[in-house]
Amino acid sequence: MTRKAFFLHSYGCQMNKLDSELVASKLQQAGYRAAASEGEADVVLLNTCAVREHAEDRVWSRLGRLRQRKRRDPALVVGVLGCMAEEHQRTLQARMPHVDLVVGPSAFGDIDQKLEQVFQSARRRAGLELGESWRRGAGVVAAGHGVSGDVVHREVGVRPQRSQAYVSVMRGCNMPCTYCIVPATRGKEISRSIDDIVAETRRLCDDGVTEVTLLGQTVNAYGRDLGRGVTLARLLRALHEIDGLRRLAFITSHPNFLSAELIDALAELPKIARYLHLPAQSGSDAVLKTMRRGYTVARYLRRWEDLMARCPDVELHSDWIVGYPGETESDVDGTVALMERVRFAQSYVFKYSPRPGTVAAGLCDDVPDAVKAERNQRLLAVQERLTAERNLALVGSVQEVLVEGPSPRDPERLTGRTAHHRIVHFPAVGRDLVGQYVPVRIDAAAAHSLLGSRVVESVAR
Ligand code: SF4
Repeated sequence: MTRKAFFLHSYGCQMNKLDSELVASKLQQAGYRAAASEGEADVVLLNTCAVREHAEDRVWSRLGRLRQRKRRDPALVVGVLGCMAEEHQRTLQARMPHVDLVVGPSAFGDIDQKLEQVFQSARRRAGLELGESWRRGAGVVAAGHGVSGDVVHREVGVRPQRSQAYVSVMRGCNMPCTYCIVPATRGKEISRSIDDIVAETRRLCDDGVTEVTLLGQTVNAYGRDLGRGVTLARLLRALHEIDGLRRLAFITSHPNFLSAELIDALAELPKIARYLHLPAQSGSDAVLKTMRRGYTVARYLRRWEDLMARCPDVELHSDWIVGYPGETESDVDGTVALMERVRFAQSYVFKYSPRPGTVAAGLCDDVPDAVKAERNQRLLAVQERLTAERNLALVGSVQEVLVEGPSPRDPERLTGRTAHHRIVHFPAVGRDLVGQYVPVRIDAAAAHSLLGSRVVESVAR
């Protein structure tokens, strides 16, 4: 029997990208093969994101195109996974009746069996017999808590990068942020055991991985559902012992869980990357209060000062939301002041868009789009200056760079990342350096990257 071919589109965050690797692992273990392109696939799966309207719009339009394809290729199976599947399961079935499979982010652990249900489904058979599969999908739906992706035995070879990999340490989030859809789509926090995470990371390192990024919505709250003593700091210390592991990072942290114990681990464990993604979201106490972020600007700054006291080399990255309901000009001035005070090395700025099903969706979205766009540009300009100043300060220094591959813009150059997650481009030909850690002298600084030249250590004769 020819093995069915699947093609997986992944949208959104790193957690979704990792979930896609786990889905691919499970399907390959069940005898499916990965198709090189969507056109060659018998099964097309979209692993979706519901955090912002724009991300959803891309999925709706792709599903529209897949309906056209299903008119020509009735046997095609179309599946929607991830946060949109959880958030919009009824709308998906009503608006996109050609979709055969709808599986939420907490229920894809037995994706192969769900697909078997699709192939066995009477609805599908009827749709095929009537030549109407383009409007009569199999209708297999699995939302809420089902078989978690954490039970999937990960095929370490499925990962896109040889030397780098993501490892999920927990799923879901218990925080009450009013603008965020994640708790509704990914459910309550469920942490994996330290043993499981160490075993998976060891398998990845045995297969050539040297840099691991741990994933969690509030990764530094890791373990609080597993009882006393199970913390991210303890997990980091356990992972730090793994031979072959050279860099260990973790995203995304919440200011309220930046504990003294975690700061000690950052100070004492040299393999831990020297950046921390610690979204502040706003520099206004009034906005932080309506967002229910659970801290004030002063408290955020105190955590940062504690961190700087022990780890002055660690740089912060942040997320910011502009145009949140009720946001005033002085609120934005507060955000700019916080950016300037901490001198973030990198920021992601988002214009607020109400998400159905969130508390904030009930608030009046009173900041006009033009004002949101202007505030978005203002924060981006501040961050661009801060990043450029920090990059400039590195000119003349030698940085250890993990080589990721050819520079996307210049095949004569290679590109990689420093321990601070900065992008470095340097002239070098050939791919034999990919996955290597090489010393690069920084010769020039651009807004979002560094340009350098490889330092070739002279071999003592
Ligand atoms: S911490 Fe807040 S913003 Fe982050 S995933 Fe949880 S609810 Fe969403």
